[in-house]
Amino acid sequence: MTPSDVLIIGGGPGGLSCAITLASARSKSWFGNRTITVLDDGRSDLHRAWLNNAPGIEPGTHGSDVLQRMQRQFLQFEVGDIHHAHVTSLTRDPWCVHCDDKRAFAGRLLVLTTGYKHREIEGLPGAVVPHHPEGKRGRIALTHDGQYRITDHAHVAGVLAGGSSQFAIAAGIGAQVAVDILCVWAGKRTHVHDTPPER
Ligand SMILES: Cc1cc2nc3c(=O)[nH]c(=O)nc-3n(C[C@H](O)[C@H](O)[C@H](O)COP(=O)(O)OP(=O)(O)OC[C@H]3O[C@@H](n4cnc5c(N)ncnc54)[C@H](O)[C@@H]3O)c2cc1C
Repeated sequence: MTPSDVLIIGGGPGGLSCAITLASARSKSWFGNRTITVLDDGRSDLHRAWLNNAPGIEPGTHGSDVLQRMQRQFLQFEVGDIHHAHVTSLTRDPWCVHCDDKRAFAGRLLVLTTGYKHREIEGLPGAVVPHHPEGKRGRIALTHDGQYRITDHAHVAGVLAGGSSQFAIAAGIGAQVAVDILCVWAGKRTHVHDTPPER
C-alpha cells in the first residue's frame, strides 16, 4: 500500500478546507509529487445547514451544495482523491487506517477532522475530552498543543479541534493546519496567495 503524504479522516468543512489549501500549493517546486487522500462517510453536520451567515457564501445556500463545491474544488487540483469510507481504527508508523469494509489506507501525516459527535475510531492519538464551547453532552474534542498538533505527524482540525460549531471556524482551522504542513514541506514560513493574471 503506497502511503499518501496526507491522510485526512473527515470530509466536512474542516477536512475539505485542509485538503483544498494543501492542494493549492501543487505548482510550488517543493510540493513535488505529494498526494492527499480524504476519507469520509457522508455524515457532515453541514448537510443539515441552510447557510445565511457563512462569509462569502450566498445567503440561503444549502450546506450540501457547499460540500459538493468543496469536493470539486479539491479534486480539480488533481493531487488526491476522496473515498467514501467509514474508518473504524488506526495504527501508526506510518499511519494506517482500517475501514468497516476491510479497506485500509496509509499516510505519512494524519489529519483527524471527524466532527465533534463521532468517537467510534479505535486507536485515536491524543486524549478525547469534552467539547467545551458547545457545552452539550456527548460532544467531543481531541487535545492538541494549541497549534492543532496532536503528536508527531498528526493534527486535528474542524470542530474536533475544539472550535465553536460554525462553518467558517471549522474551515479556518482546516486551512491553518494545511498552512502549517506546507511550511514544513517548504522549509520556511509560506502560504499560497494567487493574484489575477495581468491584463
Ligand atoms: C442543523 C445545523 C445547522 C447548522 N447551520 C449552520 C449555519 O447556519 N452556519 C454555520 O456557520 N454553521 C452551521 N452549522 C455548523 C456546521 O455545520 C459545522 O460547524 C461544521 O459542519 C463542522 O465542520 P467539521 O468539518 O468540523 O465537522 P463535520 O461537518 O461534522 O464533518 C465531519 C466529517 O467526518 C466524517 N466522519 C466522522 N467519523 C468518521 C469515520 N469514522 N470515518 C469516516 N468519516 C467520518 C463525517 O461523515 C463528516 O463528513 C450547522 C450545523 C447543524 C447541525
